[in-house]
Amino acid sequence: MHQVNEKIPASSWINKVIKPEEFEKYLDNGKDFIDDDKIWSQINSSEEPSAERVREILAKSFDIKTLTTEELATLIKVKDPAIWQEMYEMASVIKHKIYDNRIITFAPVYCSNHCVNNCLYCGFRSDNTHEKRERLSMEQIKAEAEAIAGRVGHKRVIAVFGEHPDTDADYIADAIKSIYEVSVKTRKGHSEIRRVNINAAPLCIDDLRKLHEVGIGTYQVFQETYHHDTYRKVHPANTIKGNYQWRLYVHHRAYAAGIDDVAIGCLFGLYDWRFEVMGLLCHAHELEQRFGVGPHTISFPRITQASDSPLFKGADHQKYFVSDEDFKKIVTLLRLAVPYTGLIITARESKKVRDDVLFVGCTQTDASTVIGIGGYAKNTGKQNIDEQQFMLGDTRSLEELVHDLAKRGVITSFCTAGYRCGRTGDQIMDLLKTGHEKHFCKLNAILTYREWLDDFASEETKKAGEEVIRKEIEEVKKATPTIFSKKLYDLTMSYYERISNGERDLYI
Ligand code: SF4
Repeated sequence: MHQVNEKIPASSWINKVIKPEEFEKYLDNGKDFIDDDKIWSQINSSEEPSAERVREILAKSFDIKTLTTEELATLIKVKDPAIWQEMYEMASVIKHKIYDNRIITFAPVYCSNHCVNNCLYCGFRSDNTHEKRERLSMEQIKAEAEAIAGRVGHKRVIAVFGEHPDTDADYIADAIKSIYEVSVKTRKGHSEIRRVNINAAPLCIDDLRKLHEVGIGTYQVFQETYHHDTYRKVHPANTIKGNYQWRLYVHHRAYAAGIDDVAIGCLFGLYDWRFEVMGLLCHAHELEQRFGVGPHTISFPRITQASDSPLFKGADHQKYFVSDEDFKKIVTLLRLAVPYTGLIITARESKKVRDDVLFVGCTQTDASTVIGIGGYAKNTGKQNIDEQQFMLGDTRSLEELVHDLAKRGVITSFCTAGYRCGRTGDQIMDLLKTGHEKHFCKLNAILTYREWLDDFASEETKKAGEEVIRKEIEEVKKATPTIFSKKLYDLTMSYYERISNGERDLYI
């Protein structure tokens, strides 16, 4: 077992990691792009909007145009349940227009829970002596990938790391390489992880280049809260994470390092959800305006109980907790405000909540999720609050999720083709904004679904899934040659045939 360096002199480590020249150049007189006063004044500025005004804004969303903060603030102020119903329905229509009839799945894989930070809401924080600490070796990371790809059948993971010198960029790069190396024999073919996304600390440009070189997928960093005072309150100043702006500008550094798929997110429950939704939109604007590419995905986890969390011991800790009803509004508002972006709902939420919001705009979700360190290989089937960052609300297996979605006529996609065909960054943004990406995705969803059904599904799920495939192929046939050329249709069908005969990883 690797010996982890537990004694980290805070100030010297902070000074070594944070490079002021890599974010200060973006500031305007020391100020970043989140203007707390302006956000509040827009939220508080006017009365409930008329139905006509709301419909004008919805029409803009339907045209796949990012809303202004004034427009989003207007939608936030809607109180009439009938207008909200229109907004839910429009969010669902837009999701279908851009992402079609499919949900992408992935598995989180936690590689280490060592962390030098002390975030009040997190079980991994350095002051939590209850947490059992573990850092996986490369062999253990491969064992995780083998279990995820070989036993469950996922093709996409997000590898998660605390912030610590022993899980630095070199360790993360080695982890990415190790995961890509795994290939497991399956019932009819083979399975491997084809897309490794990363959720890690904000790194400097040189370190981000290392991840780019080994084929990182999306680089995901959540700001947690956009509200400056709240950020200061929950992230102690003597930690790296205490620096709001070092974190806020990490996606800028990622672009500078050549990574053009970045993901943003916010931990809902730390501050007023209306402010946080506005903060996420400001962040999307900043990336669009500066780099011409907005966030590839947005995440919106709600805070849940964590091991020995000081936040949960405070008298008013529930002040900003988000109800299920408001959570559905958050997802809807994000879908309407940033129509092109992927929205991720995770197994942190209960099945009931997931089922509810998947259909107002979410595009990605996880299943068979295990968030204990090394948990997929251990396969105990149990959650332990002192071994994971938070508690899961939905422990459905991937098999169960695929089956549930199939019963609702939704295809589960295991596609990772876009990235490997160079459809990333501004290219994928253009395809998403014009509604063209969904056509490639539809074909690749069919091909990867066929793989998964043959390799992993029970007879019952296979039967439900084949009905979905039949309908999807029928739709493709009908859209040929108007949307799909005859040549593309024939190519897809020939790949389908070859996959049915055991070939794997054929994509359009
Ligand atoms: S939230 Fe992240 S940075 Fe903060 S203590 Fe947890 S793992 Fe560390």
